[in-house]
Amino acid sequence: MADDKLKDYRAKRDFKTTPEPVEGGGGEGKKFVIQRHQASHLHYDLRLEMGGVLKSWAVPKGPPVEPKEKRLAIEVEDHPLAYGDFEGTIPEGQYGAGTVEIWDSGTFEPLDDGDPQDRLKAGKLAFMLKGKRLNGRFALVKTSFAPKSWLFIAHDDDSH
Ligand code: MN
Repeated sequence: MADDKLKDYRAKRDFKTTPEPVEGGGGEGKKFVIQRHQASHLHYDLRLEMGGVLKSWAVPKGPPVEPKEKRLAIEVEDHPLAYGDFEGTIPEGQYGAGTVEIWDSGTFEPLDDGDPQDRLKAGKLAFMLKGKRLNGRFALVKTSFAPKSWLFIAHDDDSH
């Protein structure tokens, strides 16, 4: 299952050249990571463990930190669980060339019952992050103004 989900991830990368993981990684179920990715444009990648992969969003302006702050988050391809530990340099010419470092990591807890993947399909997921930098309630809400475009919202107390 996870292998099929990673088809897009694999198609974008040449693993003979990039140090990024092909697959693998042991999940405890609810990992989150935010990576600072200095590519052609600096952005942050939010990743939430779900269904055996890391669901991923690129956040151009960085995670929201103030209450009610909203940041655009672009849905990107699922990443392998092992990516949650990846830090390093993606070589020039490769997809996402630049440096990746872990900005924060920890666990996330969905705030609603049921499968969080269903919440994502419905366009809204409310969750707690327990990290070193980010702690508290957040939400991802799909927007209607562009495909794959979401809002990553901090301390969304009305979220459920
Ligand atoms: Mn990235």
